Amino acid sequence: MISKTTRIAIDPVHYEENPVETVPAPEFMFVPGENTRCRAYELSIKEGEHVYLYQKIGVRNGGYFKQNMFAPCSGTYLGLEKHTYRNGKSIDFLKFQNDFKDERDPSYHERSDEEIFALSPEEIIAISEEYSLVGLGGSSFPTSVKLKGTDHVTHLVVNGIECEPTLPVDKLLMENDAEELIKGLRLLKRCLGSEHIYLCIKKKYAGLVAKYQELFLGEEGMEVRPCRDYYPQGWEIGLIKDVTGIKVPSGALPRKQGVLDINVATVVSLYQAAKYSRPVAERYLAIIGDGLEKTANYRVKVGTPIRPLIEKCGYKDDGEVKTLIVGGPMMGGTVPSDDLISTPCLSSVLVYEQGKAEREHPCIHCASCVYSCPTGLVPAEIMNAYKAMDKEKIKALHPERCVECGLCSYSCTSHIRVTDYVRKAKRVAKLL
Ligand code: SF4
Ligand code: SF4
Repeated sequence: MISKTTRIAIDPVHYEENPVETVPAPEFMFVPGENTRCRAYELSIKEGEHVYLYQKIGVRNGGYFKQNMFAPCSGTYLGLEKHTYRNGKSIDFLKFQNDFKDERDPSYHERSDEEIFALSPEEIIAISEEYSLVGLGGSSFPTSVKLKGTDHVTHLVVNGIECEPTLPVDKLLMENDAEELIKGLRLLKRCLGSEHIYLCIKKKYAGLVAKYQELFLGEEGMEVRPCRDYYPQGWEIGLIKDVTGIKVPSGALPRKQGVLDINVATVVSLYQAAKYSRPVAERYLAIIGDGLEKTANYRVKVGTPIRPLIEKCGYKDDGEVKTLIVGGPMMGGTVPSDDLISTPCLSSVLVYEQGKAEREHPCIHCASCVYSCPTGLVPAEIMNAYKAMDKEKIKALHPERCVECGLCSYSCTSHIRVTDYVRKAKRVAKLL
């Protein structure tokens, strides 16, 4: 029997209980040339050149926006080297030798909190643009573009839900970086003028909910919203509706309805950029999964090679081939190598026993994928229309509304990777 629920409860694995280990900066650090939103880049440094920590070293071109690039350490630029990017591609990374001096440009000045909270909204947006801040919940959407809109944001939904099951990083951040998170929220309130700011935390983290309720005493307009633990609770449109009651029509921008959502790590990155004049410099990184001897939560500098950290956890020596996933178990993508580098949007690496990946069987028309889809699509039909390359039908089935949550694949009785087909159909629909 099929449940008509569109919400899948999560089987809890308590990776958040692993202590956080801070990883010292390594001797060699790396910066990707291209990234998922910018395919072209231009460098302003040459091989052998000395760089300061967070020195501007080039610029990426994202079409309608640019992204400055920064040195991850002080030291020497050594040239390009291939490594695996989080989308699984082998791409050019800029390699730096760390001199461990953490030397900043002599003109560097750390802003006091008085200076930060005197910044105008335009100056705050300019800082987010200067330091190439992006949505750290996984979207990597430029923060400055998000903040620049002209419609007044009355409600700001701050996402600490960690949409993907079992991932612990947003919780770790809220536990350890509360002061910077609250200062970041004050900064956003100043920037957007929002009357209501809701920090969304999973209800099951009762201690964390209580902590922020206490910290918010005296913070005008800020409140904690405890949320249930189901997937995809972190989905932007669903979360906005649950928390504010505001229904954002399909395809419309939340800002047009006076609401915006932002991930907790992005909020912290905004405060840090204003305070220290720097890009995203550190991330929590979870290395988890049943293919490892032990799992771990790290605090790691952006630019650090990840392979030694996986090896520290230890692959299970049981003869099974392992599957590596970057991102969460639902929306993450497999990568062919563990030669990964820490980047701002990489916060988890999952290592699974490959035997877990089931073989696909033919569709039995059970409609499980239909009942699971939070956006009301008919994934099986989209898949069939894509396979038949029936463009009219693809268009009529609106694959562009898919948020790539992965639930249709997860719930498919025949273990078909339905999401992959819908994703491909989405690309076809875009070209029509
Ligand atoms: S991946 Fe897309 S089609 Fe599949 S359930 Fe999620 S939103 Fe629906
Ligand atoms: S694609 Fe999978 S879940 Fe959807 S109808 Fe077919 S067998 Fe059922």
